[in-house]
Amino acid sequence: MPSKVETHEFTAEITQLMSLIINTVYSNKEIFLRELISNASDALDKIRYEALSEPSKLESEPELFIRITPRPEEKVLEIRDSGIGLTKADLINNLGTIAKSGTKAFMEALSAGADVTMIGQFGVGFYSLFLVADHVQVITKHNDDEQYIWESNAGGKFTVTEDDSHERLTRGTVIRLFLKDDQLDYLEEKRIKEVVKRHSEFVSYPIQLVVTKEVEKEVKDEDAEEEEVKEGDDKQPKLEEVEDESEKKEEKTKTIKETVTETEELNKTKPLWTRTPSEVTQDEYNAFYKSISNDWEDPLAVKHFSVEGQLEFKAILFIPKRPPFDAFETKKKKNNIKLYVRRVFITDEAEDFIPEWLSFVKGVVDSEDLPLNLSREVLQQNKILKVIKKNIVKKLIETFNEIAEDSEQFDKFYSAFSKNIKLGIHEDQQNRAALSKLLRYNSTKSAEELTSLTDYVTRMPEHQKNIYYITGETIKAVEKSPFLEALKAKDFEVLFLVDPIDEYAMTQLKEFEDKKLVDITKDFELEETEEEKKAREEEIKEFEPLTKALKDVLGDLVEKVVISHKLVDAPAAIRTGQFGWSANMERIMKAQALRDTSMSSYMSSKKTFEISPRSSIIRELKKKVETDGAEDKTVKDLTTLLYETALLTSGFSLEEPASFAARINRLISLGLNIDEDEPEAEIATTTTATTEEAVESNMEEVD
Ligand code: ADP
Ligand code: MG
Repeated sequence: MPSKVETHEFTAEITQLMSLIINTVYSNKEIFLRELISNASDALDKIRYEALSEPSKLESEPELFIRITPRPEEKVLEIRDSGIGLTKADLINNLGTIAKSGTKAFMEALSAGADVTMIGQFGVGFYSLFLVADHVQVITKHNDDEQYIWESNAGGKFTVTEDDSHERLTRGTVIRLFLKDDQLDYLEEKRIKEVVKRHSEFVSYPIQLVVTKEVEKEVKDEDAEEEEVKEGDDKQPKLEEVEDESEKKEEKTKTIKETVTETEELNKTKPLWTRTPSEVTQDEYNAFYKSISNDWEDPLAVKHFSVEGQLEFKAILFIPKRPPFDAFETKKKKNNIKLYVRRVFITDEAEDFIPEWLSFVKGVVDSEDLPLNLSREVLQQNKILKVIKKNIVKKLIETFNEIAEDSEQFDKFYSAFSKNIKLGIHEDQQNRAALSKLLRYNSTKSAEELTSLTDYVTRMPEHQKNIYYITGETIKAVEKSPFLEALKAKDFEVLFLVDPIDEYAMTQLKEFEDKKLVDITKDFELEETEEEKKAREEEIKEFEPLTKALKDVLGDLVEKVVISHKLVDAPAAIRTGQFGWSANMERIMKAQALRDTSMSSYMSSKKTFEISPRSSIIRELKKKVETDGAEDKTVKDLTTLLYETALLTSGFSLEEPASFAARINRLISLGLNIDEDEPEAEIATTTTATTEEAVESNMEEVD
């Protein structure tokens, strides 16, 4: 009975992707073979890894290979592997019905001018086969399931059928490509060899090419011989005839055409990491990198080294030019390092083999010491692996420092991976100090260029004790901040930290070369001379009535009101306590939808309202308070306005923008000499009134 044909629908995105690929006029189509070989190699990796703990899994087919067979008479190219195969469920899920983030990301990249060769990076490399074929069959046998045929011609549907043909696969997968008429050169031996050499030389399983040739062959002409035997039967051969006889035999052979099948191994290169670094060319490293990474570009840097002694391993590590499209996504692959044990590939899924902040690094590590039968459990707590990990991290930091010697290279590195470095500072206590040397920031003294902390320190005036930085959303937002004034006046440089991760990293780092790292939007002690200190103390006394009055007006909105020597022209600013959140952190936390709101109540900033004794606004306000008292309506209004404006310039957002706007509108009316009785003014006042009422009633609720 013929098997039932099941029809399934591709996801809309995959249908779109296939039609994009099948219709592309893109000329570099050969990469389809790289993608299919890479999938075959992945499938072989999987079965080999499973067999480490359960050797019987290899019994169905002990030989691990990839085999390419052109079938010119059918216009079919077959790529076969003896890998893990796909179960029926795998076929349906992995080839068409489960949405992958890479599908859309790849199509977006394409329409933004990206190249089809990038397909592998997005996890949809399989579909690149439609560059050269318009119809495909995937015939596959997994140890745990029957043999199936998956079939598609790039339309919206595909079929899955149990394969009851007489051609049995022991284990693994055959991809049968029905080539488009203009792509038949992929059936030619020469073309296939060329493409495999270019893209798949370093695949660690034999890639066999099956070629069928017509050869001419001399065979005995049996008919002629038979005749001769009959002749010879009659008489005894005479002695002198013997030589003649042999000549006669030669005459009695004929030339026939015969088809022979030959298998040739295309990738016989010795693993690159086992060679001496000085004997490997940059081109070889680049080709090797591309073969293990799916990347279409050369790497930014490579580190090839071996460790000897108590522990022995060899490694080649690559720093890519760009972060992966899914960097910092939680579901992405955690590790791009392939682990080998004595030249045998073990896994590229060893957890905790490389710290997360280094997950962008790609490469291979080949250990002499690990056991071959590494199960997942053993991998997780293996001591040797931990030591290897430590060594890798050390070598990588060394590599980053080497990159830093070339500023152009380092710019590329830093713009791609600065977040990773900062994450490293946050998480890796041991390497924190070493990593801090790689940090680069804009600052009040380095306009366009980024500066390192080391350079910052060399520029510090003698009396400057701390390294100062300001945090905020953008450079524009921080470069005119009122907090900068006093530091500028003292000629102290301030670093601009505008990446959300900066503040996390700095809070862990705490100091650099024995100098404290100080956030100038928080409470801190600014270096001052004896004179400055005396003057400040006098000012505190002089302004005490004003600060008291302002605290009365603002009530619980602020922790305290102080006279500040850290402000110059700006009348006021809101500073936060040393240990709570900064304004910037409060902004970041508010933006995180899933944050734990219980944290915010005690972490959220304790606000100090600072006023500048040098500001004419403050001096006038002081006079007004002295004559009219703190209860005066204008004093109250102006104080609130001053407070709200300070919130904004200090990087906070307003809880009640409407009442702030109402106050500003009243000022505008005043400037335009509009009568208070006119309708707009009335609306403005009522708005204020209602919001104030709202605040009051809220407070009652809290009580
Ligand atoms: P990726 O290789 O990045 O996962 P692909 O689009 O190349 O993406 O392949 C999709 C999936 O199809 C693979 O993850 C795998 O599950 C399955 N697959 C493709 N080719 C094979 C094969 N030769 N053997 C087993 N599974 C395969
Ligand atoms: Mg793939």
